Amino acid sequence: MPGFEFFGEEERKEVNDVMESGVLMRYGFDPMRNGHWKAKELEQAITETFNVKHAQLTSSGTTALSTAMAVMGVGYGDEVIMPTFTFVASFEAIIAAGAVPVLVDIDETLCLDPKAVEAAITPKTKMVMPVHMCGSMAQLDELKAICDKHNLLLLEDACQAIGGSFNGQMLGTIGHGGTFSFDFVKTITCGEGGAFLTNDEKYYINADHYTDHGHDHVGNDRGAESHPFLGYNFRISELHAAVGLGQIKKLDKILATQKKHNAIIKEALEKIEGITFRKIPDPEGDNASFLSFFLPTEELTRAAHKALLANGLGGNFYWYDNNWHYIKKWDHLKNGTSLFPINPALKEALEQQDFNNFKQSDDIMGRTISSLINLNWTEEQAKERAQKMAETIQSVL
Ligand SMILES: *Cc1c(COP(=O)(O)O)cnc(C)c1O
Repeated sequence: MPGFEFFGEEERKEVNDVMESGVLMRYGFDPMRNGHWKAKELEQAITETFNVKHAQLTSSGTTALSTAMAVMGVGYGDEVIMPTFTFVASFEAIIAAGAVPVLVDIDETLCLDPKAVEAAITPKTKMVMPVHMCGSMAQLDELKAICDKHNLLLLEDACQAIGGSFNGQMLGTIGHGGTFSFDFVKTITCGEGGAFLTNDEKYYINADHYTDHGHDHVGNDRGAESHPFLGYNFRISELHAAVGLGQIKKLDKILATQKKHNAIIKEALEKIEGITFRKIPDPEGDNASFLSFFLPTEELTRAAHKALLANGLGGNFYWYDNNWHYIKKWDHLKNGTSLFPINPALKEALEQQDFNNFKQSDDIMGRTISSLINLNWTEEQAKERAQKMAETIQSVL
């Protein structure tokens, strides 16, 4: 997954352009810029690469989610349906908006179970947020149908699935809004950064303002701009955007390499009786940054994971025990533990949810190992790793 494995001259050249002009800010300072507008260029490159009308860069994937909440009008009194397996940022962004995260089970796609989504809808539900985990997609046809039927907003968190697609449409561009993360370990990176994607012009214009303190960006004098509404500083810097410009040109190569290496590992594991693979609604659209597979029981999965690490096969993740990605370890979020008082209705809504009763998610996550696909392996190294992984797993089965 990490695009940083392919850093080179291209990123350096883009960053040097910015260093030479000295303008690290994405807005203003027109006479000093030597014509460089890296953030604007990257937004343009994103709209072209992902075939979406609008892209607003942000300082992170997390602030892209917060931007999405704001421009899509999610706030106090609203409920947002999200999966138990994700990154903590999903929960954080909903809480930060003052809305209530309603957690529901995942299924063998490792993404939202549409049946669980439908069962969780209440009159307060405003948005459904599928998270395309580990490079592959949620069941978007079913989720879209549910959102249409109940008049709900669909926000795709595609932070981990940049370059993935579903029936020919890029992930992150299928819902009413979508988000990318360009943090250091994502498919393409800016160091830190993110993007909000949408085909809705109003959402985009509001995102442009919201991420820059509500500045309306009319005219060339920042001091004279008006501020139609409250905003924050969620801007990306020119330096970060410059890195992203170098990276986005490598996306095709990154995806092709991931697919090739992923297939090599899969071919070796497929031969082992007892291993099954994550369900992928559109296999061609997998961005292939991970290969995720299941073993028959939690006990065997734990043993296999331990053996993989003991044999020097890092990059194999057992999310079930992970602090960042699975609800089991999120006590601070489940309790709404905050440095400042949070609104009592939200606190109560959190207390009312039974966050410890996700049997379907527990059963699936307890049996899941995700194997990170590196870019810099040679074909030989990928084959050796595949062989070693297969032997190690076989030894515990
Ligand atoms: C990385 C990630 C985010 C947040 O992105 P940051 O840029 O690290 O803030 C959000 N959602 C998912 C699924 C992620 O993996």
